[in-house]
Amino acid sequence: MTPHASSDVSHETPTTNGTNTDASAYSDFNGTDVVPVIIVGAGPVGLLLALRLALNQIRTVVLEKESSLSQLPRAIGYYGPVHDFFQEIGLYDQISTEGMASGGYAWRKLPTDNAMSKPGPDGKFKPGHYSIQLAQCRLAEIFLENAKKTGFVKVLWEHEVTGLSQDENQVSVTVATAGGGNKVIKGQYLAACDGGRSIVRKLLGIRLSGHSWPERFLATDVLRVAPVVPELSVHFTVDETFWGVATPLEHVEAGKEGLWRYSLAVPAKPNDDPNSTPLTDEQVLEPEYVDSLLLRQIDGPRPSTHVVVRKSLYKMHQLLVSTMHRGRCFLAGDSAHINNPIGGLGLCTGLLDADALAQTLQIAFSTSSSDPNLDDLFYRYSTERRWVFQNVIHPFSSANKTRLHGAKPDDVAREDWYFRALARGDPKELENIHRPLYAQWRTDMKKFWPVETTGKEVKATNGFTT
Ligand SMILES: Cc1cc2nc3c(=O)[nH]c(=O)nc-3n(C[C@H](O)[C@H](O)[C@H](O)COP(=O)(O)OP(=O)(O)OC[C@H]3O[C@@H](n4cnc5c(N)ncnc54)[C@H](O)[C@@H]3O)c2cc1C
Repeated sequence: MTPHASSDVSHETPTTNGTNTDASAYSDFNGTDVVPVIIVGAGPVGLLLALRLALNQIRTVVLEKESSLSQLPRAIGYYGPVHDFFQEIGLYDQISTEGMASGGYAWRKLPTDNAMSKPGPDGKFKPGHYSIQLAQCRLAEIFLENAKKTGFVKVLWEHEVTGLSQDENQVSVTVATAGGGNKVIKGQYLAACDGGRSIVRKLLGIRLSGHSWPERFLATDVLRVAPVVPELSVHFTVDETFWGVATPLEHVEAGKEGLWRYSLAVPAKPNDDPNSTPLTDEQVLEPEYVDSLLLRQIDGPRPSTHVVVRKSLYKMHQLLVSTMHRGRCFLAGDSAHINNPIGGLGLCTGLLDADALAQTLQIAFSTSSSDPNLDDLFYRYSTERRWVFQNVIHPFSSANKTRLHGAKPDDVAREDWYFRALARGDPKELENIHRPLYAQWRTDMKKFWPVETTGKEVKATNGFTT
């Protein structure tokens, strides 16, 4: 029995907490080694996976086509079991201190606020019981800084994966580099964290199925002076056409300039005429059109003094791959599943994929590569994470979105089951509503290992027979 990665890391000197003090330990990577894990994409999911594996002394090479981290306005809210995961990897304090705490959300036009929780006597929220509001680009930076410190992660910028092949022992990727050359990099396993347009998914021939929403979503970062900052400053606007989400991106005070994120629905048709032609992306991004949407949302005196510092336009989808595992390759994050951003479930789910995949690879590296049950474990990673998307994330995120525009605001407030539950304000009832999300979102892969075998039948330890 050969533990098939330990030889790669045996020369490292771990400290007692599993990290490596020698940050140069991996600086000798010359591109000809077979690395334990190739990660495609230095987005937050890829970097967190690299960090999580590094903390278990598993080396990775991260291939990123861009020259630096993306600064696009995207995710901002992280909650539920993601906080437990941040605690386990020792980053909770940093992320929660840099981020802003939101004890819940408000829906404008509603008679009540949905306070998920209040801070304790020390002024702090209980992990998992609130949302950390922090820009995705900063979160990715924190993962990168900490991953680099371990000495187990090498990030190769301007390395775009263009080709892939695999056999039963290894994966080879062809990479186009900045200088116009090509390289081949080999690994024992590969994790595709290359986002919604994943090239790895396409090269593996894995299908992505689901549907796209008719509206587009415009994310803007806006400097503005808010006349009032309510306790629940993260709020959704309910409207049949001009729905949206607003959240401060930093600690803001009433009457002082602060940075806010306004994410706005761009109606499928520019006016009520069903034959009208949708605006092009360029037309939507024109400053006048952006302002026309923003001014519906921003409160305060007119003319407004707000300044748009960043903007980006997105299509919205509900899409899931047919598998997150093929051979020695795995998919995680947006490369595997995409949901509309209302309710902040996309990246959180990707971060929990990274957690499950790191556990899976950790088990793989601690057992014999010829163990016939490993393949079953790999399928488990895929089936469990797809189950979470199909049964939890897809329905929750779809309901979050349609609730914002399904009917006139006063009708929704009166008729929607969730808003009625919020109005009743029974903590037990609300806990029951949120329980599936919190209880089923994260996957404990250790539960499926070792696999119990009876003859040819494979029995997983949770009692189900596959
Ligand atoms: C407006 C908006 C708001 C959102 N808000 C939230 C929120 O509040 N909470 C939440 O949980 N989620 C939210 N999301 C979703 C979240 O942004 C995504 O789920 C997240 O970006 C996925 O991260 P990722 O690492 O999987 O992919 P990405 O962030 O897309 O990273 C993929 C990386 O792979 C690289 N790459 C691609 N192709 C290649 C290649 N061939 N070779 C090498 N590198 C490659 C890319 O350059 C990129 O760096 C939001 C999304 C949007 C659009």
